[in-house]
Amino acid sequence: MVVGEHSLQPNDQMFAALFERLSKSKFRSRFRLGAKERAYYEQKGADEVANQARQFIKARLAPAQPANDGKQTPMRNHPVFIAQHATATCCRSCLAKWHGIPAGKELIEEEIDYVVRVITQWLKCETTISQRTQISLKSKIKMQKAK
Ligand SMILES: [Zn+2]
Repeated sequence: MVVGEHSLQPNDQMFAALFERLSKSKFRSRFRLGAKERAYYEQKGADEVANQARQFIKARLAPAQPANDGKQTPMRNHPVFIAQHATATCCRSCLAKWHGIPAGKELIEEEIDYVVRVITQWLKCETTISQRTQISLKSKIKMQKAK
């Protein structure tokens, strides 16, 4: 997958490629859930947090000209905010640069779905896989890609 190339219906391989690119970014890969955000995620559950992600994206990212674009996503206090920085879905310029979704126009429903899927996928990995097993996951993803 070429940088900036983008599909609204990504398959597992495309997600694997995206997450591999993100893992190579020092800035993106340093974002981790803290104890508080992890506890919140576990308490609310994946579905509720996904609903919240959709609401945040609709309010803060979807408008053609989002308020405070570039600074609209806090660095902590909600698992979705952390996931947004980790997946480069924090603002419209990151969305354009990493996901090929152009800035300056309102997000369509499929683009919102895509962003929510990227965020929930990151949260799923972050909350189910310990740091120690991430290396073996990476090699698993490589094996899948080779198929
Ligand atoms: Zn950003």
